[in-house]
Formats: sequence, C-alpha cells, structure tokens
Amino acid sequence: MNSIKTHSLGYPRIGAKRELKRATEAYWKGDLTLEELLATGKTIRETNWKKQESAGIGLIPINDFSFYDQMLDMSCLLGNVPARFKWTGGKTDVDTVFTVARGTQGGVSLVEEEKDCQTGKVSTFASEMTKWFDTNYHYIVPEFRSDTTFKLSSDKIFEEFAEAKALGINGKPVLIGPVTYLSLGKIQGTNNPDFDPFSLLDNLVDVYEEIIGKLAAAGAEWIQLDEPIFSTDLSKEQLNALKKSYDRLQAAKGTAKILVTTYFGGVRENLGSYLSLPVDALHFDFVRGAEDVETVLANFPSDKILSVGIVEGRNIWKNNYDRSLEVLQKATAAVGADRLWVAPSCSLLHSPVTLENERKIDEELKSWMAFANEKLQEVVELRQLLDGTGDEKALQANREAIKARATSQRIHNEAVKTRLAGVGDRDFHRASEFTVRQGKQQEKLQLPEFPTTTIGSFPQTKEIRKARAQWKKGAMSDADYDQFLKTETAKCVTFQDDIGIDMPVHGEFERNDMVEYFGENLEGFAFTSNGWVQSFGSRYVKPPIIFGDVSRPSPVTVYWSNYAQSLTNRPMKGMLTGPVTILQWSFVRDDQPRSVTTHQIALAIRDEVVDLEAAGIAAIQIDEPAFREGLPLRKSEWDEYLDWAVKAFRLSASGVKDDTQIHTHMCYSEFNDIINSIADLDADVITIETSRSNMELLNAFVEFKYPNEIGPGVYDIHSPRVPAEDEMVNLMNKAEAVLPRGHLWVNPDCGLKTREWKEVKLSLTNMVKAASKLRSLN
Ligand code: GLN
Ligand code: ZN
Repeated sequence: MNSIKTHSLGYPRIGAKRELKRATEAYWKGDLTLEELLATGKTIRETNWKKQESAGIGLIPINDFSFYDQMLDMSCLLGNVPARFKWTGGKTDVDTVFTVARGTQGGVSLVEEEKDCQTGKVSTFASEMTKWFDTNYHYIVPEFRSDTTFKLSSDKIFEEFAEAKALGINGKPVLIGPVTYLSLGKIQGTNNPDFDPFSLLDNLVDVYEEIIGKLAAAGAEWIQLDEPIFSTDLSKEQLNALKKSYDRLQAAKGTAKILVTTYFGGVRENLGSYLSLPVDALHFDFVRGAEDVETVLANFPSDKILSVGIVEGRNIWKNNYDRSLEVLQKATAAVGADRLWVAPSCSLLHSPVTLENERKIDEELKSWMAFANEKLQEVVELRQLLDGTGDEKALQANREAIKARATSQRIHNEAVKTRLAGVGDRDFHRASEFTVRQGKQQEKLQLPEFPTTTIGSFPQTKEIRKARAQWKKGAMSDADYDQFLKTETAKCVTFQDDIGIDMPVHGEFERNDMVEYFGENLEGFAFTSNGWVQSFGSRYVKPPIIFGDVSRPSPVTVYWSNYAQSLTNRPMKGMLTGPVTILQWSFVRDDQPRSVTTHQIALAIRDEVVDLEAAGIAAIQIDEPAFREGLPLRKSEWDEYLDWAVKAFRLSASGVKDDTQIHTHMCYSEFNDIINSIADLDADVITIETSRSNMELLNAFVEFKYPNEIGPGVYDIHSPRVPAEDEMVNLMNKAEAVLPRGHLWVNPDCGLKTREWKEVKLSLTNMVKAASKLRSLN
C-alpha cells in the first residue's frame, strides 16, 4: 500500500530574518549588485526547500519564491507587460518585475501615465496593486487590453525547477491558474467598450500549454495550478473558461500530473465543476471551507487524488490534532490512503516564518502557537498519526497545549464576557437622531462653513522614529521621551492654529502604528519580535496577536488629546482606531467568532470615547479604513458581516452626548455596494479618500442621499506633490454641486505620516485658502 503523502502549497519567501527585504531594498538603492541580489534569492530558495525537506514534506513547491509578487511573476512569464513600460520583448527578468511594480520612479503609484509637473518629464507609473482575496497580501494587478497577446517570456520557473533538481529535489512547480489570472486582472486603456478579457483565454492557454509541456519535459512529476477563484461566486463565463482551460491542459501535460488548488473558503456550489476538472489531484481548504467536507467526501471521483488542507495557513495557532484527525480519518475512509495527501490549507506565505526566533512572547503563549515551520511539522505529524507511524507523545503534547489554551485564565476575563452579554439595543444608539445632534454640535463647535480638518497623523520624521527606538531600548528616559513628544505635538498644534485649521488634531507622534499602538495598551493582545508577513513587495507587517478577551485597563489617548487641547482654543479632534480595523489587521483568536472579538474591542474603544468626552474633547474620530476589507468572499455572507461590523462601530461610538461629534475615516474604499451600511454607522462626519478618483467615489453618497456630514478628500497624500488652491476649490465645487453645502468638510484624503513637513505646510496652507475661497463663493 502506498502511504499517505504530504505537500505544501507555498512557503514564505521573506527569509527568517527578512533577508529578502534587506537585499531588495539595498538593490533598489544601488548598494547591492544584481548578482548579489540574485544570490540572496538563491540562498533563500535553497534554505526553504531544505527546511521543508527535512521537516518531512513529501512534495516541495517551486516558483513560490518571488522577488516581489507571484501574480506579477505570472504576468512576466506570460509576457504581459503593459506597453507603457517599454519592455522590448524577449525575456523578462527581475528588473522588469521591479519596473512594473514600482514604476520608473520607484515607489507605489496607482495612476497610469502622468506628467510630472515639477520636472516636466514623463514618468511611467506602476501597475496597480490590490488585496489577494480576503488576505492582507497585495498583488500586482495584471492589465488586459483588447490587443494583449501572451508569449512565454521568462525562464524563472524552469531555472528554479532545475536549481532544486540539482539539490536532489524533484519539486512541484506552482503557477497561478489561467482563469484566476484572467479573473483578477483589470481592463486597461482599450477603446473597445465591449472588450471581455475572457476573449484572451485561447491565446493565454496556448502559453500555459507550452509552460506545462516544458516543465514535464524537464522532469516535473507534479505541477500545481492555483485557482482560488473556486472559493468565490463564479459566473457562467468563468465556469466555462475553467472547463475549457483544463480540458486543454490535460491534453498538453505529457508525463506530468496536474494538481489544482483552491483555498480561503469552501467551493460549495462550484463543487460539481471542481470535481469534474480533468486533472490528477484536487486540493480543498477544509479549514475555512469546512462546510465542504461531507459533500466532497461523498462525491470524490475515483480517478483523482484528494489533497486535504487541514492546517490553517493564515493564523498563528496550533492545530487541534484531534479535530483534524477526525476529518482526515473520514477522508482516508472515503478515498483510501493511497489517494490522500495532507497539507496546509493554503500557501504559508500568509504566516510568519518561525517561532524559533521569538523572544518577546512568553513560553505559555508560544506553546499555543505555530508559524510556518511549526505548521509543516504539524502536517507531517498529522500524517504520521493518521497512518499509524506517529508518536502518541506528539498527540498527547498537542492535546495538552490545546487544553491549556482553552482553559487559561489569561484568555478568559469574566468581567468582559459579562459586560458584552449585557449589551442591549440602547448601547448601539446615540441619544438623538442625526439632525438633532447636528444642531447641538453646531451650537457648541461654532465652526464656519466648509470646516477644515486633517485625518490625524502628521509627518513621522526620522527624529521621531529615532526617539521612539531609543526610548524602547531604554536609551531615552520616559520623562525625556514625553518631553520630546510634547514638543512635537505643540509644534503641530501651533502650526495648525497659525494657518487656521478649524478642527486641529494632535498629530499622532506617540504612535508607531494605528493598530499596534492600541493593541499595546489593551489587554488580550501580544506582540512578536519577528512575526513578519509580506504585505506587498518589500513591505512586511507584524500584526498584533489577539489571544484573549479584550479590555482597556486605563485611558490610552486622553493624555495626548488633553495636552493638545490645552494649547488651542479650537476644538481638538480625538483620534482612535475602530474595532473592525483593529480586528482586520491583527491575527485573531480562532476559538470564538470574529464578531465577538470585535465587539469586545468595541467596548474598550467605547470607554476611551467616553473618557475623551469627559476630558472636554468635543469631537472624536474613530478610524475604520479596513471596514470594507472585512467583507467575506461570498456575497451571501455580506449581510451577516455588515450587521456585526456596523454594530461594532456603533457600540464604540454611542456612549457620548448629542453634542459630541463622532467622525469616522475610510480610505481606499469603494462604497457603492455597502453605502447602506456606511450610512448605518451613523457617524456625524465621515472623511473619505476621493481626490484620486476625481470625486467619483462620492457618487454612492449622492445617489443614496447620504444624510450626515462628509469630508471628501481634496488631495492625494501618497505623493509629495503640493496641490494648488484652485484645484481643491474645483474638487469641492464638484462636491457642492451634488451634496448640501452645510454638510461638507475640507480635508486631505488620509493621514500625513508619510509626508515631509515642507510639503504638508504648503499643502495645508493651500487647503485652508481653498476653504475660505469656497466660503466666499455662493
Ligand atoms: N488617523 C490615521 C492617520 O491619519 C488614519 C490612517 C488610515 O486611515 N490608514 O494616520
Ligand atoms: Zn486613511
């Protein structure tokens, strides 16, 4: 009898000590040669393969490594490089990748060709990036035009396959599947309004055939094609394209075998199509798609291998062996040991590399956790326990860890549970409806028409980051750090007063990050020293870990808001991060619903809101930039999410009197399909990012007749460009044409932390001038 196999879908490529980031950024700066960069890549790949091999993983992924992004690598492999990058054909390489990702000026921009007003030079802007399904990973969006053609244009995948082979590893090359690739792209600059990217399918599959043929000829036994769109709502067109593609690829694969994967959720109604793909193995995410288990096992075809994703690739918690073994045993019974593979649910790209280098988290917490390396070990141990070759001790140890976590006093805070259980309808509502509140707030705040404000943060300069690092190291005393921050805050408040910002902010100088700062001040959060996960390109994030019931031991921001308010007569706006955003940008508990965790956070924020009010702060902003990000992949689940997410915001905001003004802020969001819920938040003022879309994002609010006040961003904070007064007046005129004048605020698109003071000074001065011009126009 063949034994059960293990494999992994992908492994983090950033290096255990962020080697890839360091090398890439050094190369961009000119401090590292191309050869040195490539050598770093090679070392990381070799380390990763050997790591997986020695962990006992049977089939090891190849081409999951990338210097920037696997979708962009796919575009380069297919020769789909937008014309504006002036790629001349032939082979793409790592420089092609960086150019598309960063534009010819470097950095990240979202606009196509734009004239640089300072130099007059035409620079080529990067391709857009967007979130990879519902993860916090961002991929570079492929661009399609009616004249797009595909052609095999990179050696990367073949070279990496050969590289592994030279090390004695017959790896499993990984590709983004053709239909996921087409589905996630964007139509660019075509003058044919009926252009449908799926019309490119035939030519696209030609190139896939060629790639697969070459890999087979090179000796690849298995080839993995990722089609995570199977976990989303699919159109007829997508389903047809899937069938068509795989019919062709099956014929072209030669001696190789094809594994198709999906992950991040169940396949549900797509199951029939998925099961009938003419391929050799199918992977399922039985963690996020647990609803599929019974139907898959009952219907799994006898000619295929079943790959069971059972170790969650997207969190940091230990697997529950007993629960997983139950599923795996059923799977063995259904398909037999020789047709079963055990795997993580998805690529481990979304998990930090290893617990080994963790110094910050204590042993107890650590004993509940598993990062990528530990997850591989779990996959192997589960396989061994399943086929009877395992060590009972491993099972015992796992049971103990799971039990210790479930019963730990550090997780369970009865006061928090009781308080949440006692929350009632009244806690989700302000005392009066908006129009009443608006009147009272006007009376109290005495703001002019078109009041000016900012989104919260001011430049986080080198000096600030340095001081914080010194203080964290113990090299700067608490008193000195406090004095330093006070000086910065005072400068910021004075500046706003001088130029005449109507509702100033304190500047957020005391914060490293809008989520981490709150996490550090709340109970139930933990922080790693090395738990980095790739967000995009060389940007990695280190999400906080929410491990227990959340509470707020003492006020967090009142001190800074108070201090800032003492420096000005204008109403200081308090600045908080909302519960949904805190949840979205953290690793969350898997032992209770996300909604419960979010509502616990909401109560902690509510306490802060109430304390700010008591301290005399008349306006409080609760940022929710990640509100839209939380939407489930399946439309059918949106309502449920929106219901608890809106409630979370309202719970955090509703503890104050009518005359306290609640603001919220959201950036990079589309609002059309969720405008109902946005209005339901019932914030007195919402500020949004609109300048880059030329106020287009306002349409949703206009059509909906959004009842409350709104500050459509008048300038893009992602670029150092200083906006002219008239430009902002024009944008606001557009807004005023469609929304009540008395409801409009004037503010930038988002926080200013990444900008420099000299730009901020000029931009905000112009913005204030624009507001007074608007007031003078009728
Ligand atoms: N208040 C935050 C800031 O200004 C908001 C950031 C965000 O929306 N991403 O930095
Ligand atoms: Zn923002």
